[in-house]
Amino acid sequence: MSVESLFPRLEALLPRVQKPIQYVGGELNSTVKDWDETTVRWALMYPDAYEVGLPNQGVQILYEILNELPETLAERTYAVWPDLEALMRSEGVPQFTVDAHRPVRAFDVLGLSFSTELGYTNMLTALDLAGIPLEAADRGEDDPIVLAGGHAAFNPEPIADFLDAAVLGDGEQIAIAITEVIREWKAEGSPGGRDGLLMRLAESGGVYVPKFYDVDYHPDGRIQRVAPNRSGVPWRIHKHTVMDLDEWPYPKKPLVPLAETVHERFSVEIFRGCTRGCRFCQAGMITRPVRERSITTIGDMVEAGVKASGFNEVGLLSLSSADHSEIGEVAKGLADRYEGTNTSLSLPSTRVDAFNIDLANEFSRNGRRSGLTFAPEGGSERMRKVINKMVTEEDLIRTVSTAYTQGWRQVKLYFMCGLPTEEDADVQGIADLAKKVIKAGREATGSRDVRCTVSIGGFVPKPHTPFQWAGQADHETVDRRLKALKEALRGDRDYGRAIGLRYHDGKPSIVEGLLSRGDRRVGEVIRAVWADGGRFDGWSEHFSYQRWMDAAAKVGVDVDWYTTREREENEVLPWDHLDAGLDREWLWQDWQDAVNDVEVEDCRWTPCYDCGVCPTMGTEIQIGPTGKKLLPLTVV
Ligand code: SF4
Repeated sequence: MSVESLFPRLEALLPRVQKPIQYVGGELNSTVKDWDETTVRWALMYPDAYEVGLPNQGVQILYEILNELPETLAERTYAVWPDLEALMRSEGVPQFTVDAHRPVRAFDVLGLSFSTELGYTNMLTALDLAGIPLEAADRGEDDPIVLAGGHAAFNPEPIADFLDAAVLGDGEQIAIAITEVIREWKAEGSPGGRDGLLMRLAESGGVYVPKFYDVDYHPDGRIQRVAPNRSGVPWRIHKHTVMDLDEWPYPKKPLVPLAETVHERFSVEIFRGCTRGCRFCQAGMITRPVRERSITTIGDMVEAGVKASGFNEVGLLSLSSADHSEIGEVAKGLADRYEGTNTSLSLPSTRVDAFNIDLANEFSRNGRRSGLTFAPEGGSERMRKVINKMVTEEDLIRTVSTAYTQGWRQVKLYFMCGLPTEEDADVQGIADLAKKVIKAGREATGSRDVRCTVSIGGFVPKPHTPFQWAGQADHETVDRRLKALKEALRGDRDYGRAIGLRYHDGKPSIVEGLLSRGDRRVGEVIRAVWADGGRFDGWSEHFSYQRWMDAAAKVGVDVDWYTTREREENEVLPWDHLDAGLDREWLWQDWQDAVNDVEVEDCRWTPCYDCGVCPTMGTEIQIGPTGKKLLPLTVV
């Protein structure tokens, strides 16, 4: 049956809201397929505003892959701002997709990509606006399957009651597999109804269906066990790993936003995974092993993507881009190719020790010599050992001095506060390091015109990392240390003016901590916050710490128990039945090593240290060099 476009009703509301263009759709490279000629229909949601959601790579990749399938359609939906939400409620307009403005409730699947837990309340708004019951248990045969993916889905327990299903890991192949299961189930006349479909997905072992698992608790609140409540459902659910990135060169046709967005460039993922072993980094742990895209595929993707989009900036994405085995060749090849054009290159993430200035020069050949960012993360040598960020002060100073000598005037240093075992002196170390950076810059250039900006984020212990057992620092401690750091920098007459400091207070990290390591009981807090008006929690102007604390108190959830409490080795963690491939004993040993300042090398260049991922997942590290070169293109 055809589904009518909601646009005529939506259009009447748009003159009354901010940035109406974000709801209009029709971006270059967007796709609208005929509803009646498809059998499986996905609504893909990035649960944040259009300006953040549109550039999201995961959504763009799935959107393109699903739309390439015959009989399958995918459209996008984003969180609407509160002004439009109020109008949609008063005028009875439901949550819509931006592509063909179809009602989200008409789709077979609502697939949500969660990069951060702070999008959970936005999911509830979208469900409610769509007319989909918030709790999975209340949904009927006509409601879509609500499916979560993305990094935050590695512990979906706090939102388990709101989800029908979740998938872990790379989405390309599993999205196609799910589509096929739904297509077959529909072709057979939807046997068993909604539960019949969920059962088929759960039995595959690659899709987690929370309602097929029961959680038992000890009297003291700790989890006793998580067990399947029906036969045929596996005890553990495994993550998905795409092994040959060259076979999946997406996005081929990047979406070009209509409204202003946070990134306006064509991003090519040059490798996936990271084995540097930074202990705080959930992304690095859950995306192992390293799989590089070959230099030739990168070159082809850049050429095709720039042609298809008209973007004049190309970002080479990954968790640590300078670590690609042929990054020098990639940078030089692309810089040669686009020399004299207005296409510039950027390397969004890099590490001090992998960075070299030749590389930076290649990247700035066609563009601005903008600021360089380095992330030592910890302020003292001891702290960096604890977190396994193997950067010495000497490395940092040498690299930064070279950058200043080569013409950069501004560097940015990124740190975290509240790390496990951290003491006041470790945070004071940030001030010392920043001053040494400026001193070295002045000596290297003979000029006082050098600056650095220190940017500090609050540390949140994450599931599937060695710090999953750690007690999170309370926000009072974090705030006290940051205040002392600010005073130390401000009060310095020689260097204070050359050093900028950016940080947030420690409260949002506590809420993120509650959601990151929460279990199913935390779902009630999320619902209470949402009912009290909680929206866009990732935006400081919308976030309310008090609202979260009031909601937790109201439903009887002890926030400290979930955040600042250190866990014992054998405590069952809410995500233990969700398998990221990492061996639990290895993670515990790595936590013990952290406390004892023992470092672990990168297994790309040293023997495997048995983290468990490759044998469990049947994967292996895939790195170059291929020895190939990029051919310059004739620029017409
Ligand atoms: S199993 Fe070994 S080679 Fe594979 S990611 Fe872990 S440490 Fe590295």
